[in-house]
Amino acid sequence: MLLSRRNTFAFIASLVAAAVFAGVMALPSLERHYFRQQAEQDTVPLKLAAESLRAAIDRYAPLPALIAERGILAELLTEPDNAQLLAQVNEDLRQTATAVRASDVFLMDITGKTLAAASYRQPMSFVGRNFSYRAYFSQALEGALSSFQVHGTTTGEHGYFYAAPVEDGTRIVGVLAVKFNIDAFESVWRGADSDFIVTDRNDFILMSSRPDWHFRAMRPLSERTHQVIAQYLQYPIDRIERLPITTYDLSDTAQYVDVETGQTEGLVMTRLHLPDYDWTIASLSPTTLATLNAVRTLLLVELSVLLLLAGLLAFMLKRGRQREAFVREQRAKRALEDAVTSRTADLRRALADLERTQMDLVQAGKLAGLGKMSAALSHELNQPLAAVKAYADNARAFLKRKDTAQADENLESISKMADRMATISTHLRNFARRPQQATRPLLLNTVVQDAIAVLDVRLATGGGRIEYTPPKADVWVIGGHVRLQQVILNLLNNALDAMAEQSAPVVRVTVSGTSVLVRDTGPGIGEEISQQMFDPFFTTKSPGNGLGLGLSISYNIVNDFGGTLAARNHPEGGAEFSVTLQAATPEEIAAQ
Ligand code: ADP
Repeated sequence: MLLSRRNTFAFIASLVAAAVFAGVMALPSLERHYFRQQAEQDTVPLKLAAESLRAAIDRYAPLPALIAERGILAELLTEPDNAQLLAQVNEDLRQTATAVRASDVFLMDITGKTLAAASYRQPMSFVGRNFSYRAYFSQALEGALSSFQVHGTTTGEHGYFYAAPVEDGTRIVGVLAVKFNIDAFESVWRGADSDFIVTDRNDFILMSSRPDWHFRAMRPLSERTHQVIAQYLQYPIDRIERLPITTYDLSDTAQYVDVETGQTEGLVMTRLHLPDYDWTIASLSPTTLATLNAVRTLLLVELSVLLLLAGLLAFMLKRGRQREAFVREQRAKRALEDAVTSRTADLRRALADLERTQMDLVQAGKLAGLGKMSAALSHELNQPLAAVKAYADNARAFLKRKDTAQADENLESISKMADRMATISTHLRNFARRPQQATRPLLLNTVVQDAIAVLDVRLATGGGRIEYTPPKADVWVIGGHVRLQQVILNLLNNALDAMAEQSAPVVRVTVSGTSVLVRDTGPGIGEEISQQMFDPFFTTKSPGNGLGLGLSISYNIVNDFGGTLAARNHPEGGAEFSVTLQAATPEEIAAQ
């Protein structure tokens, strides 16, 4: 799934909203879970509280039976009008009550009428009052050795009553009851984290660590219950009203309770049935911690979900960015490739143009060379051809006149012309075909001397001189003897040609290192000529005196030897040509 950045945010935001909504919806059931957990934890202190209560009740249980055994009580019951006996019993009961810290100890006859009481001296004394309607009385009368009952008193307090039958040896003649109104029972729960209540089978609160809950009803009173209470006066009827509570079941033994006393209070109530008394003891613990736990768990879950979503968001954004970057990269790559392709095409076109131009130039150069050559050749050949024609025509005329001597002279001239043309043809052949002849070590001095010797004839007839300074030691160079000699001879001829105007020209030849320097005192080489003089068929000489091939051929020969041919104008006037050759190594010299 590929989402745009905005869609991604919207998607994540809706997930966050859904997570928050689900959290809010889940809070009540999460709370219930923690309430149930709390109820489970509360069962242990609840059992302890029940045990403490049972122990407290059992402590006083044997008391009425022990007191009832005193003979004086049965005596008084058989002689109720015996004032002395009554006074004695009253005092006896008072002392007993003080000793056991009971709020009262009193004796009733079988009709329920109180004969004597520890409180006989007090204005609100039970003496004379009839308690036959009390359950503890009827139970004791039926023989129960220790009957225990809690109920409201006429004073509005709640009392804890124990009763036992009084016997005269054979039959029950009365009932002895002990009343405690200190909360010896409820005090055992003090200091616990939870509140405790004890309810009877009608869900009236008999005991409570919350004093204002005494004798309140946990559920609405039925008409019948109301009548029963009115009959037995177990509870102060004027105080009986329902506690303002709403309960929700958490389990069989646990409930959530909302108490509306001024402010709403949430409690977890855990119940335990006490079959001995047909009571139910319940613990009431505040739900603050459970609610806090539920909220904390929810926040943790929400936080985890949010973190997860943040991670998801980061991942999606990163993937989006990566994709964008990839697309950008691809686009850039394609653009680059396109640019390279078009540049390559440009270059290829340029190269093709260049090649074409080069070919054109070569072609043009060839044609130019050809043009130059045909011009030079026609120059060179036309003159002897014209001469040959003239000599031949004259020879015919001489032969007609039988002047054979003259005709022979002309034929000789024709023969010379043919020789000259043959020389031209040899030059051309040499230029066209440059045989790759082998090179070897040469003594430079020998070659120079041989070349000078060839010129002896020209020098003898035409005047002029060659001043040669040979090297002091042998100079071995690499080359071919005849070809190098031809080069030097050519340079010497050119030098003499350049000084043709002079009466006593001198050519200075020196060997310096592996170079041969040929210097004249002629006009030197002009700028324009220096650029062309090595070209084939370039000459400034008149027809018959030069074909323009000498320097070109020489240049190529020296090049073949791996050397160089260069020209310059000497500072003291005239031109100086230099042939520089490669020195032969001692091994090469030894090997020849
Ligand atoms: P050619 O001697 O047949 O003219 P080269 O190739 O030997 O042919 O010489 C070409 C040209 O170079 C000559 O025509 C001349 O103009 C110039 N040249 C050669 N040597 C000299 C020199 N020593 N002094 C002046 N110019 C020279």
